Amino acid sequence: MTQLSESLYLLYHELRPRRSDYSYVVETAAFEKQCDLFLKLRSRKEPGLFPEVTFDDGHVSNLEFALPILHSRGIQAWFFITVGWTGQRPHYMDWQQLRTLHEAGQQIGAHGWTHTLLTHCSPAELQKELAEARLTLEDKLGTSITTMSLPGGRANSRVIQACRDAGYTQIFTSAPKREPRPAGAMIGRLNVRGDMTLEWFEQLFEPKSSVLSSLGRQHQMKTAAKALLGDSLYEKLWGLVNRQETETSMGDATAREDSAHHQ
Ligand SMILES: [Zn+2]
Repeated sequence: MTQLSESLYLLYHELRPRRSDYSYVVETAAFEKQCDLFLKLRSRKEPGLFPEVTFDDGHVSNLEFALPILHSRGIQAWFFITVGWTGQRPHYMDWQQLRTLHEAGQQIGAHGWTHTLLTHCSPAELQKELAEARLTLEDKLGTSITTMSLPGGRANSRVIQACRDAGYTQIFTSAPKREPRPAGAMIGRLNVRGDMTLEWFEQLFEPKSSVLSSLGRQHQMKTAAKALLGDSLYEKLWGLVNRQETETSMGDATAREDSAHHQ
């Protein structure tokens, strides 16, 4: 179908029919247009990046809104599930919904048990966040789970080793960069925000575009700032400069997760 030799993995969280101020909510109609663009890009003849779609957290909008859009276009995406939220937390999928998603041909991976940043976990906590999350997903879905997405994109060598020990062969991060096809053991992703326009996406995928490399540099600087300030001070500063939604209709889980998802 295509000669494209490198991929760009996009990271989505929640879709909503209407525009939201919450940074990582993408409007359903915008996602639909983005998927149409991805189909066009996937079939082009000239060199360029092959777009791949991933979702983190297991929000119920992934099933309600994203699945029909992906399915009708024949796009197979990855859905990384926060296992402890499944059937437990309002607005997140339950096991039956997750099975529906899986049976529709979509790929399921793990996103921890509690969404705690793994770099903050003790060895016993890592066991629960990684091994128990994987085994529970396998048990409930009756399939092999080998992919893991890092909550908040946070990792260090101890976390990476723990992921390997827990049986994950591919780890998805939040560092935006091009990836070989087929992908290797660590896969970077671009975190999609609701204010990214279709024109912006078109530029991103232009063969000579500098958008991705500039995003990559920004991400490296932010990672360095987190290392310097520590996660907790960094989150506070981030909260000050980014608008956080407070309306209750969205479910405060989303608002609380806001800082955990920023890059
Ligand atoms: Zn997440």
